[in-house]
Amino acid sequence: MKASVDSDRCAGHGDCVSICAAVFSWTPDGFAEVVLDEIPEQYTDLVLKASHDCPEHAIEIDEG
Ligand code: SF4
Repeated sequence: MKASVDSDRCAGHGDCVSICAAVFSWTPDGFAEVVLDEIPEQYTDLVLKASHDCPEHAIEIDEG
């Protein structure tokens, strides 16, 4: 699985960072980004939850 944050949609609420800080982190300008190219198996459920819960629908998932 791969994930990405659409920087045009992200509003920097931080829900995703709270849900899974191993995968989501902050950019210097206060938005979220995905820090891993490939999402390890142990984080996939949390990443799906973060995508589902993102208020801006900014997290895109590629189940690849
Ligand atoms: S939850 Fe969504 S809007 Fe909030 S920081 Fe994460 S990607 Fe951005």
